[in-house]
Amino acid sequence: MITPHEGVLAPELEVAAARDLCTDCGISRTDDAKDCGVACQFIKPDYAGLERRVHGRARDEARVDEVYFGPFNRMVRASLKPAKTDAQWTGIATRIGERLLETKAVDAVLAVAPDAADRWKPVPVMVTTPAGMAAVRGMRMGYAPLLALLEPAKAAGFKRLAVIGIPCQVYALRALEKKYGFERIYVIGTPCSDNTTTENFHVFLNLLSDAPETVTYLEFRADYHVELRFTDGTVREIPFLQLPISQLPGDFFPLTCRTCVDYTNVLADITVGYMAGQGEQWLLVRNERGEELVALLGDELKVAALGSAGKRQGAVKGFLKNTELAAGGLPLRRMPNVLRHVVGWLMPRVGPRGLEFARARVEMKAVETVLHLRRQRPGRMKNMIPRHVWTLVEGYGVTPREGETH
Ligand SMILES: Cc1cc2nc3c(=O)[nH]c(=O)nc-3n(C[C@H](O)[C@H](O)[C@H](O)COP(=O)(O)OP(=O)(O)OC[C@H]3O[C@@H](n4cnc5c(N)ncnc54)[C@H](O)[C@@H]3O)c2cc1C
Ligand code: SF4
Ligand code: SF4
Repeated sequence: MITPHEGVLAPELEVAAARDLCTDCGISRTDDAKDCGVACQFIKPDYAGLERRVHGRARDEARVDEVYFGPFNRMVRASLKPAKTDAQWTGIATRIGERLLETKAVDAVLAVAPDAADRWKPVPVMVTTPAGMAAVRGMRMGYAPLLALLEPAKAAGFKRLAVIGIPCQVYALRALEKKYGFERIYVIGTPCSDNTTTENFHVFLNLLSDAPETVTYLEFRADYHVELRFTDGTVREIPFLQLPISQLPGDFFPLTCRTCVDYTNVLADITVGYMAGQGEQWLLVRNERGEELVALLGDELKVAALGSAGKRQGAVKGFLKNTELAAGGLPLRRMPNVLRHVVGWLMPRVGPRGLEFARARVEMKAVETVLHLRRQRPGRMKNMIPRHVWTLVEGYGVTPREGETH
């Protein structure tokens, strides 16, 4: 249940079907729950095929950054001016949704609002007025069955939609969009990594603060600090080194989020993140539809060239060693010595920054995918790991073993 807002609809959803390796994107709650078989990125994803369909071409391995970030026309550092209050960063995602509704380019935007009783729990909603976009600002930790809204959106007679979603939702959306037959769907993606259930996230918040119910904002920033904001307006910045990660259970991050292969939302029309932004946002405009979305922002969007500095290899090697040594999830902070080594490399002034930081994070994610699947679901490797992921890790001596590729 959400706090009622004009222009924000939160239809009652069916219960999720039981599934192995599932982030409850919503497809199992639809009338055609069996669609999971073709739509799920955790079964047998076909990134190259969908990239070709969505962007007109698969990632071009000759453009090295496409191996990391997927197909894109251009990448920029960006901020919305003035920034939206209560947005996660400057509110680019929210403003795109508002502009689409203002210009009547879409009938509704599918996104997630906070639950009325728990601001961290994402609840899928259909926003039909520009003012309604205020209800979905900011980031919530957890899984939201966003795509269960496709049926209610169709039933409501909406013809043109925008969807704001994380990569595992966007993969399933792209796999099924033809079937749903909307006239047009704009896809605004955000990167995503290290998500977990909202229940697990509360365990983490309880360790971070004596008054966890007063925390209104949390972000893992690219300068190796977690930023917390509180109801009384105070802000706390905690260096990663001091996070109470070792007190969390080993399965805190589900296997899905340790092994998903799309950090940067490669099938979105535009990806709105922060990793390469050096304190600002990072936009990857992936196709003409993404250009249309940028154009809607006009002068409100300030853009600049991205920077890149430092070298990522030492950091990624340290991460790889840690992941190999650890028995399960959360390897990094359980080993203080290795941790010091890794964080030493990753410190803001000497470690990778800007694009090099984003490349480092994508390589780390690729390392995790291979090592965690090898340990926990070796039989899934050949179907779940696309070729470009092997390309990302081969420079670190991680290569496919027999039976791990097709
Ligand atoms: C779990 C999670 C992990 C992320 N990790 C990274 C990362 O490692 N690197 C990076 O660059 N960016 C990451 N992001 C994206 C980042 O937090 C910002 O959302 C993004 O930069 C957009 O900022 P904004 O100010 O434009 O967003 P806003 O204008 O504040 O809009 C935020 C949008 O995010 C959507 N949203 C919020 N929570 C969820 C959720 N749980 N599931 C689906 N959609 C949601 C809302 O519907 C809203 O439309 C992550 C997002 C999530 C949800
Ligand atoms: S993540 Fe989505 S597509 Fe995959 S099994 Fe779960 S509900 Fe189905
Ligand atoms: S980390 Fe990957 S699997 Fe987990 S919620 Fe994010 S996109 Fe989905």
